[in-house]
Amino acid sequence: LNRRLAEFGTTIFAEMSALALQTGSINLGQGFPDTDGPEEIREAAVRALRDGRGNQYPPGPGVPELRAAIVDHQRRRYGLTFDPDTEVLVTAGATEAIAAALLGLLEPGDEVVALEPYYDSYAACIAMAGGTRVPVTLRPSEGSGEGAGDAGGDRRFRLDLDELRDAVTDRTRLLLINTPHNPTGTVLNRQELTAIAELAVERDLLVVTDEVYEHLVFDDAEHLPLASFPGMRERTVTIGSAGKTFSFTGWKVGWVTAAPALVTAVRSAKQYLTYVASGPFQYAVAEALALPDSYFEAFRADMLAKRDLLATGLSDAGFEVYRTAGTYFITTDIRPLGETDGFAFCRALPERAGVVAIPNAVFYDHREQGAPFVRFAFCKRTGVLEEAASRLKTLA
Ligand code: PMP
Ligand code: GLN
Repeated sequence: LNRRLAEFGTTIFAEMSALALQTGSINLGQGFPDTDGPEEIREAAVRALRDGRGNQYPPGPGVPELRAAIVDHQRRRYGLTFDPDTEVLVTAGATEAIAAALLGLLEPGDEVVALEPYYDSYAACIAMAGGTRVPVTLRPSEGSGEGAGDAGGDRRFRLDLDELRDAVTDRTRLLLINTPHNPTGTVLNRQELTAIAELAVERDLLVVTDEVYEHLVFDDAEHLPLASFPGMRERTVTIGSAGKTFSFTGWKVGWVTAAPALVTAVRSAKQYLTYVASGPFQYAVAEALALPDSYFEAFRADMLAKRDLLATGLSDAGFEVYRTAGTYFITTDIRPLGETDGFAFCRALPERAGVVAIPNAVFYDHREQGAPFVRFAFCKRTGVLEEAASRLKTLA
């Protein structure tokens, strides 16, 4: 293993999912739903396979039907317009979009400012691209814990805008943003996004924004795409994924929307990573993106009910729960349980309670900052969440 990757070892998701299988635990670690996406979309994939659409290499930028559907979705939801021929790129999941964006845009030695805790592939991909990561830590606010039942009240992780500004140097090439944010469940608000946009314009930075949870926002939170802010359309690479929005994480269909020069840069890297992927699934995802608003609303309502169920269970079990405004993860603080080390806690949890979770410390450079936080996924069937909650109660 080379020096660039040596520090990363095995991704926590593989480690924890293997532990869940080994111990027969309920897996609230890796974020994947235990119910597949809509039947009609699965049928669309089968039809594409049968009709011979996508069984051979699809076009490099993605099949025209899917590129058109991505453009239409961005226009319908956000009023953003993209040219399907020059401003859209289909990727092998958001994971490849992140990798290709960083490999295509960074020069060795460039600094990338990213929100910490960050999704684990960011650090590895920055390293593979020869960049240097500069973390800006989201700080847990105290909050009252009241106001939203057991869903965490107003306790949340916040971006300190001064820290963000201070992190930018003459070597900064891009800001790597993620909203709704994995693992904290924070959704950046208009004021925060405006500040990010102003900073990017002022310092002439590119922005790569991972918005794979765009449809999973709750209560009064609203997903605002960074590309819609003044000065951002030309400098932003936006990343989306069908895995999260349609509950098909195994299909690995993601995409990038950006100005032509940026898409060209991302595609230059992407063509030598996978060239293309997911032929028949691309046609199915094109149909999924055209589903009526009622699909997206029902999906969100379902996840909201699951959030509340798990948040209550975790709170009853003695965890301090942070409010999830978006994503399907809940970050908790384990200190009220008399624990301080999330790693040790998560390694012992299968034995102690038959549940698997993720230690947030893996998403930090400043590991000590993340030590007491543990993430649980709630994209699971109601009965599974109830069983997990009742098992976790034995910890108290
Ligand atoms: N970004 C974030 C923030 C994620 O949580 C994930 C994992 N689902 C991804 C990207 C990767 O998405 P995909 O499965 O489409 O590669
Ligand atoms: N994004 C998912 C999570 O955060 C898992 C993705 C993966 O396994 N790489 O849990």
